Amino acid sequence: MVARVIPVNPFDLVIFGATGDLARRKILPGLFHRFRVGQMPLESRIIGAARSNMSGDAFRDQVRAALEEFVAADQRPSDDLAAFLERLYYVQVDATGAAGWSELAQLLRPDMIQAFYLSVSPDLFGSIADQLSKRGIATPDTRIVVEKPFGRDLASAKALNADLLRSFDETQIYRIDHYLGKETVQNLMALRFANSLFEPLWNSTHIDHVQITVAEEIGVAGRGGYYDRSGAMRDMVQNHLMQLLCLIAMEPPARFEPNAVRDEKVKVIEALGAVTPDNIVRGQYRDWNGMSGYPEDAGAPDSRTESYVALKLAVANWRWAGTPFYLRTGKRLRTRASEIAVVFRDPPHMIFPPMEGRKGNALIIRLQPDEGITLRTTIKEPGPGGMRLKEVDMDMTFADALGSDLHSQDAYERLIMDVIRGDQTLFMRGDEVEAAWSWADPLIAAWEESPLRPVAYDAGGSGPEESLMLLHRDGRRWRAIGA
Ligand code: NAP
Repeated sequence: MVARVIPVNPFDLVIFGATGDLARRKILPGLFHRFRVGQMPLESRIIGAARSNMSGDAFRDQVRAALEEFVAADQRPSDDLAAFLERLYYVQVDATGAAGWSELAQLLRPDMIQAFYLSVSPDLFGSIADQLSKRGIATPDTRIVVEKPFGRDLASAKALNADLLRSFDETQIYRIDHYLGKETVQNLMALRFANSLFEPLWNSTHIDHVQITVAEEIGVAGRGGYYDRSGAMRDMVQNHLMQLLCLIAMEPPARFEPNAVRDEKVKVIEALGAVTPDNIVRGQYRDWNGMSGYPEDAGAPDSRTESYVALKLAVANWRWAGTPFYLRTGKRLRTRASEIAVVFRDPPHMIFPPMEGRKGNALIIRLQPDEGITLRTTIKEPGPGGMRLKEVDMDMTFADALGSDLHSQDAYERLIMDVIRGDQTLFMRGDEVEAAWSWADPLIAAWEESPLRPVAYDAGGSGPEESLMLLHRDGRRWRAIGA
């Protein structure tokens, strides 16, 4: 199946930090893909901006090298590559200085859609926004895109919001959480709100519990300095897992419009009950079986930073009272796997003989790898010998159902095109980010004050024993990671 490509209007996209890692690995390859499929009109331009002194040709050479590194050879025919590079410009601008801004202003075309992607450290957001506004570079329709992390607590998130809102209106600000650009994550909304099959069951009467897992195989080596100041709660739970929880738990919005969707997500975060210490497990991986441990990877022998978190959450509203949400995320686990498992209650009255090891109906939404959906159902085991039951998975992998087209669309490319279209649905609103920090802040503060260390778990394993207990004591169990 070939995706329908609807070209966006021509645009000027300025990437601050265009020489950095994120631009090289994600933003520029993503734009190249969109260019190749014809979504990016020929009149569009990409303007790199950073402090390094280099010519436009030198920048294009850098981008060519990045595309050769991060785009598969069969996906970058030389004609397309050359045509894309022709659309690239470079301006030397220091976000905190005076140089370069007038050159940038001269390059931009006021009659085009203008977007500024701030792929730089968040402490530069305010000064870039100020300069764009003060120098009259931004128009009332300008879009400004900012990357995570959006703050490290409520106070810093509020300060970042204030920095941006000094110069821009909320409708111009696109806060990226790349999880929301994933095909399967958007499919959560399609699944829930475009089918009549699930919604009548989508409540605590029928759903026993929900498990959200984001497991990573890699450790923190290579980014230990950043990670050790952050930890799993700030790096994953407050943003990515919280977004997944919102999409599963939210009420149907009246319309598929940015504010209608985001209003409902905020309500979920605001309905989260307080989390008591016995409903949280913090872990840190230790060396095991030849694999290094967190202290070594992070270069922090006495670190108390968590590389794993599991939580039991209650969404205190009419729909969900009585249905716990179990969340877990960790580094250096046995495999890389992200999924949401919606586990249904057993039938109210079972007419068949009890079935050993029965797990019950579940809808499993796999985010990575092998994006797809599995419905676990109970059927009769074939053959004579009475009515014996068996659980089977009805499995749909999107790659099989939708064809090879799926793989080419990275979350970043989808989100950047949404920016150009002016669609904020898949971006976090300021109050949404603040609500998530308001929820996370007391938990993080309590850990920082506590003398307790995170519990240890083996590198390459399934996480701490204590995390298993979080479900066992409720008579439930986690799905095996990567099952
Ligand atoms: P990076 O590799 O350190 O790149 C930073 C970029 O900012 C460089 O192009 C740098 O170029 C430019 N820069 C630094 N100071 C500047 C200034 N005063 N004025 C103008 N440009 C300046 O960082 P990154 O990994 O690409 O990350 C960029 C942002 O994305 C960060 O906020 C990061 O947290 C976020 N992020 C990154 C990733 C990732 O995978 N890398 C993932 C999620 C979020 P010059 O030195 O030439 O100025």
